[in-house]
Amino acid sequence: MQITIVGGGFGGVKAALELSRDKKSHITLITDKTDFQYYPGLYGTATGKSHLQSWVPLGEIFAGINNINVVIDTATKIDKSNKSITGASGTVYRYHTLVLALGSVTTYFGIKGLDQYAYGIKSEAEIKKLKQHLLDEFSKPNGVDKDILVVGAGPTGVELASALGTYLKELKEHFKQPEPRIRISIIEAGPRVLPRMSEEASALVATRLKELGVHVELNKKVEEETVDSLIVSGKPIKSHTVIWTSGVANNPFFAANADQFELSKNGKVVVDNYLRSGSSVYVIGDNAFTKFSGLAQTALKDAIFISRHILGESKKKYVAKMPPVVVPVGEKWAIFEYKKIRLSGNIASMIRSAADFVGYSDILPFGQALGVWRAQTIKEDEYFPVESPKA
Ligand SMILES: Cc1cc2nc3c(=O)[nH]c(=O)nc-3n(C[C@H](O)[C@H](O)[C@H](O)COP(=O)(O)OP(=O)(O)OC[C@H]3O[C@@H](n4cnc5c(N)ncnc54)[C@H](O)[C@@H]3O)c2cc1C
Repeated sequence: MQITIVGGGFGGVKAALELSRDKKSHITLITDKTDFQYYPGLYGTATGKSHLQSWVPLGEIFAGINNINVVIDTATKIDKSNKSITGASGTVYRYHTLVLALGSVTTYFGIKGLDQYAYGIKSEAEIKKLKQHLLDEFSKPNGVDKDILVVGAGPTGVELASALGTYLKELKEHFKQPEPRIRISIIEAGPRVLPRMSEEASALVATRLKELGVHVELNKKVEEETVDSLIVSGKPIKSHTVIWTSGVANNPFFAANADQFELSKNGKVVVDNYLRSGSSVYVIGDNAFTKFSGLAQTALKDAIFISRHILGESKKKYVAKMPPVVVPVGEKWAIFEYKKIRLSGNIASMIRSAADFVGYSDILPFGQALGVWRAQTIKEDEYFPVESPKA
């Protein structure tokens, strides 16, 4: 059986691994990067921990598997009637069965200046840019930003803001930065932090953030970013360090091929009971209009589901299930929620650590997963130069 997968993230990689169990299957994985990105680890890498926890070469993941062929290309066009996908390279890929798992992209909701000046933590390139900026900023003899602004109080914003304190303290000491007052703030348009969790969880996290010295501004709207300020609800806050974690949108591939898909109001692909858009095109993970789309665990679950369907191992209909959510908030503290269970503190932090190990094991063999998981505690040398990056 010939199966083409587009996207080398959680959904695409997991689907390739699952489908490769059938030795009669030949899988072509088309993706635009040579690495798999473990997004839940990115905030750690952005705040001084090893990059090994955040990106893993696809070659390592598929080592020893002979029926997966990885092609580096960016899918731009689909023609369902011809059963073909076109890449930015100009190559036309014919498919028999297609799995689309292209993930989400950052959106700035058209807010002026953000695309030019804001930093992000959604990719290796964004993280390197942010870290270089922080190193440049902290190695200045004076004039360092007094306000470090994280926009968005979702899991990424909360994880990042709460880990930034320790990292910035290290940078401050390392560069003997004299600025006494550096404030980390989260700016959120909504009325509470972690709006997808319960109100009780939000309240616990708000208290924890306060203890960590993270300032939270709720019901505040980001209106513009200029070269040296963020305009928030009409008032400018002086800063060159604005980290945008707020908006995600479906991959633009789908809007560009809107005549080939039925799209929901939020731009995701409407799928049938087997996660299909048409008879031989499966759409999974962040791209599919399902209840819990937007989570890595959903993408992994979707990948297992469609693989079983494609291989004829199951005829069951898809049921969206709420996965457990666990968000780290600083060292040895996290918030965990699953159905009616809510835990906070070190116990939840241990659950998060275990969940990360399970996440890596979903993609990597046991030994490799263990190595990558352990890298979470290792400090990065490469991006923490011993000498100041600027004379
Ligand atoms: C910073 C951050 C932290 C997160 N933390 C968590 C968390 O703690 N827990 C959780 O459950 N979820 C978390 N998420 C969400 C989770 O990462 C996503 O839901 C998950 O990655 C979705 O999997 P996917 O396979 O749909 O897409 P992705 O994993 O994003 O994979 C998409 C792949 O497609 C490739 N691609 C994109 N466009 C093209 C194209 N045109 N052609 C070819 N290839 C293409 C991309 O490079 C990528 O390899 C986080 C997300 C972010 C950004």
